[in-house]
Amino acid sequence: MLELYQAVDRVEAQMLKDYLDQQGIASVILGDLLSGAAGKLPANIYPTLWVLEDGELVRAKRLTEQYFCKPPVAGEPWQCAVCGESIDPGFDICWNCATPGPNDNE
Ligand SMILES: [Zn+2]
Repeated sequence: MLELYQAVDRVEAQMLKDYLDQQGIASVILGDLLSGAAGKLPANIYPTLWVLEDGELVRAKRLTEQYFCKPPVAGEPWQCAVCGESIDPGFDICWNCATPGPNDNE
């Protein structure tokens, strides 16, 4: 198992993990609250994404770069109807409370 990427928060780590899952790469998120149950506290508070198969690391890194180099999504930020947060147009759900946004049915 090799470390792939240090995310800024759990949401980002999970989004990248979901993307890698779609590409057929198994990964695991460590360093967040869930992994604390394993008994080993991480040295940092940021969740990190680990690739389970060492041989997949290079491909996973390439996919990670592609994932974060996507061109910006056109459109206006939308406001969450539940909590009022302003959400960037690239997101389909509110990052704060997970309420689906106006683009969810497209
Ligand atoms: Zn919200």
